[in-house]
Amino acid sequence: MHTAERVRRIKPSPSTAAAQRVRELKSQGLTIHDLTVGEPDFDTPDHVKAAAVRAIEAGETKYTPVNGTPALRAAITAKLRARHGLEYTDAQITVGGGAKQVIFLALMATLDEGDEVVVPAPYWVSYPDMVRANDGTPVIVDCPESDGFKLTPSRLRAALTDRTRWLVLNTPGNPTGAAYTPGELRALAEVLLDHPHIRVLTDEIYDEIWYDDGAGLSLAAVEPRLADRVFLTNGVSKTYAMTGWRIGYGVGPADLVTAVNTLQSQISSCPSSVSQAAAAAALTGPQDFVRDTVEVYRARRDTTVKLIDEIPQLSCTTPGGGFYLLVNCRAAIGQFTPAGDRIGTDEDFARHLLDREQVAVIHGSAYGAPGYFRISFATSTEVLTEACARIAAACAELTSSERPS
Ligand code: PLP
Repeated sequence: MHTAERVRRIKPSPSTAAAQRVRELKSQGLTIHDLTVGEPDFDTPDHVKAAAVRAIEAGETKYTPVNGTPALRAAITAKLRARHGLEYTDAQITVGGGAKQVIFLALMATLDEGDEVVVPAPYWVSYPDMVRANDGTPVIVDCPESDGFKLTPSRLRAALTDRTRWLVLNTPGNPTGAAYTPGELRALAEVLLDHPHIRVLTDEIYDEIWYDDGAGLSLAAVEPRLADRVFLTNGVSKTYAMTGWRIGYGVGPADLVTAVNTLQSQISSCPSSVSQAAAAAALTGPQDFVRDTVEVYRARRDTTVKLIDEIPQLSCTTPGGGFYLLVNCRAAIGQFTPAGDRIGTDEDFARHLLDREQVAVIHGSAYGAPGYFRISFATSTEVLTEACARIAAACAELTSSERPS
C-alpha cells in the first residue's frame, strides 16, 4: 500500500502506544501498576450523563451546525466570560471532536510548507507531529527544569523568525504541570507584541485543574492587546472526566475560526450531537465535581511528590496544575541493573521499571524531555503508593558499576 508522505513523517502518539502496551500485558494476566493514564479515573458526573440521555430521547440525534449547537456555544461563551472576562461573538467559536481535533484543524488551516511553529519542550507529544503532518516545521525550544519548565522571554525571542506562524502555549502543561503566572504570561506577551505576524495557540485543557491561588489564567485575558491573535483551545475531557465524549473547542480570530469550520465541514460535518448536549450540561451545571476532584488530585500530587523525593536517584518539581509529574531520573542513567545492563536512557529506565516491577510510566524523550519520565496521578492513592514503592525497589537495585559475575 502506498502511504502518503505526511503520514510517514509522523508516528503514533507514544502515550497511546504505552496505553496499548499496558492493555496487552494485562491481557496476558500480568498485574500492571499503570501510571501512564492521560485521563481522569473518575466517572462522568451523573447530571451530565442524564443530559445526554435526555438529548437522545428528545431526538437530538441529527447533524448539528458545523461549529456546534447554539446551546453549547452559549455555554462556552458564558464560561469564558465568567472565568476570564473574555467576550467572544458566535463567529469566533468552533466546537470539534476534542481539543486535539480543534488544534489539528487550526494548524491545518494556517500552515504552508516550511512555516514554523514554536513548541516549548517538554511538550505534549502531539504538537510536533501535528505540525509535521500539516507541512510545518516544529521549532522546539528547550525549557529546562531550572526555569520551572517554562518558556522565558529570551528563549522565545531567540526562536522567532519571519516564518514563525504560531507559538503553542500549554498551561497548566502536560507533562510538566507547569502553570504560568500572570507576570510570566505578561513577559511573553511583551515579546509577542513586537512580532505582529505570530499567533498564539493556547492549550488550556487543564485550566480548571490548578492548585495555587489565583486560578489558571489565559494569555488573552492577561494581555488584551493580543486577544485578536490568540486561538484559545479547551474542552471538557479532563475537567469533567469526559475524555470519551470527544468535545473540545477553540475561540479566537473569526477568519481562523471560519477556516477551521470549512475544514470541519469536509472532515466530520460536526461533533456528536449527544456529546454536545452533555458538554453544555457540564459547563452550565453544578461545578462541585470540579472542586472535589481538584482536591483529590492535590492530595495525590502531594503524596506522589513526597514518595518520589524520598528515592535517592529521583527528584521532581511540584506541578502547579494538571495531573502529571515529570520525574528527573538523570542520576539513574549510567547505572547498571542486576543483570548487568546499563541504563543508558530514560527509555531504558522506563523499561527497567516495567520489566522488574511492572510499573508503567512514559519515558521523557517522548515529550522532548530526555532524562525524565512522566507519572500520571489520575489514579488511586493505593496504586500510586504501591507503584512508588516499586519504583523505589527498582532504583535500589541499580548500582554504579557492573557487578562482577
Ligand atoms: N492538550 C493536552 C495538553 C492534552 O494533554 C490532551 C490530552 O491528553 C489534549 C489536549 C486532548 O484533549 P481532548 O481530549 O479534548 O482532545
